[in-house]
Amino acid sequence: SARIHAAPLPPGSALPGGGAVLSVEDVTALENAEEMRRDFVANVSHELRTPLTALMGFIETLTGFAKDDPKARERFLGIMAREASRMNRLVGDLLSLSRVESDERRRPDATVDLSAVLRGATQTLQGVAEAQNVQLLRSGEAGPLRIKGDADQLTQVFSNLIENAIKYGGSGGEVRVDVERIAHEPVLRGPALRVSVIDKGEGIDPRHLPRLTERFYRVDTHRSREQGGTGLGLAIVKHIVNRHRGRLRIESAKGEGARFIVTLPET
Ligand code: ADP
Repeated sequence: SARIHAAPLPPGSALPGGGAVLSVEDVTALENAEEMRRDFVANVSHELRTPLTALMGFIETLTGFAKDDPKARERFLGIMAREASRMNRLVGDLLSLSRVESDERRRPDATVDLSAVLRGATQTLQGVAEAQNVQLLRSGEAGPLRIKGDADQLTQVFSNLIENAIKYGGSGGEVRVDVERIAHEPVLRGPALRVSVIDKGEGIDPRHLPRLTERFYRVDTHRSREQGGTGLGLAIVKHIVNRHRGRLRIESAKGEGARFIVTLPET
């Protein structure tokens, strides 16, 4: 869309007979950014209010009829602890997101061993995988893989992807993390490392794929909430990958599992 400004010329200006200045400014990008910001604020408010309303309700119950009922108290306090930790996770993810967005332009320059990052992320999630009867497997390149990056942020990328694969694709029984070395990646125009996180679960209907990395976008909101999801994981992943000048690709079809592919420049 365009915004048109019309203003009469000031008296004494050069054009004979007066006239007007007409300037046309493309405001589509601005309007979209403004709309996205508004949506984001509305979403955050909604996501925070849900657990907050639950907490307020239980506080009322605990100070009211359940005051002298130890069994009810214990049960309600358990639910309150869960709701509070959901709020805590959400605030944590919001902070991560704003941090990675604000330093997205500064490319990280520390030397990181991607193999060690993947080992760390896999080890941390071993317990979660076992609890869901999922086998966590590694394949491909195994030796040290040096790249320029931020170890904590890269750990967050692969932890998020592996955790999602277990949470949403765990029914397939296994999650595999595969690493390939690519001598010349055409889009990145140089040597690259390609890490794929592959599950054999239910997969994702392709119509969702283009929006999956948007903040708060979920295929099934109820399911995500049940699993403790904030809807921000993939948005954080995308920004960190961008900061590393890498690429994120998602391949999936309903019923065929999902494959999240992160390609990172090697130098
Ligand atoms: P959440 O906190 O909801 O997990 P994410 O941003 O990490 O948020 O993921 C967004 C949505 O993408 C999830 O709610 C889920 O619907 C879908 N998703 C992510 N990973 C997978 C996967 N491996 N298989 C199927 N669906 C997935």
